Amino acid sequence: MADALQHDDAVRWREELMPDQTATNIDLRNTPDGAVVVTAQSCCAVCHSVTVKRARRVIPSGPKGVPNAPDVPTVPTELTRMAFLCDCGYQHPDRPSGEYGCGRYWQVSLG
Ligand SMILES: [Zn+2]
Ligand SMILES: [Zn+2]
Repeated sequence: MADALQHDDAVRWREELMPDQTATNIDLRNTPDGAVVVTAQSCCAVCHSVTVKRARRVIPSGPKGVPNAPDVPTVPTELTRMAFLCDCGYQHPDRPSGEYGCGRYWQVSLG
């Protein structure tokens, strides 16, 4: 584990929109039915937990123009950003019941 930031337990829960971030890790997988599953990781700028999100994208034009090589994934043009919500699961101070994380949310560019 290279120096991952420590989770900051003392952060108070607050619903707040954070600046855009870039994903720290993007994984794209073609599924047999022609969709692409995008898995992206992003680190909460406030409490430093890593959040993972998945999105499924169907490419409407079918297999045409999509490289078959699974190691050369194509980012679907329709899906360039994903919404992230911190879901570290930590009991941050002031966290309302039913909420997860520290309340921060942000957009991640898939590049
Ligand atoms: Zn947290
Ligand atoms: Zn957080």
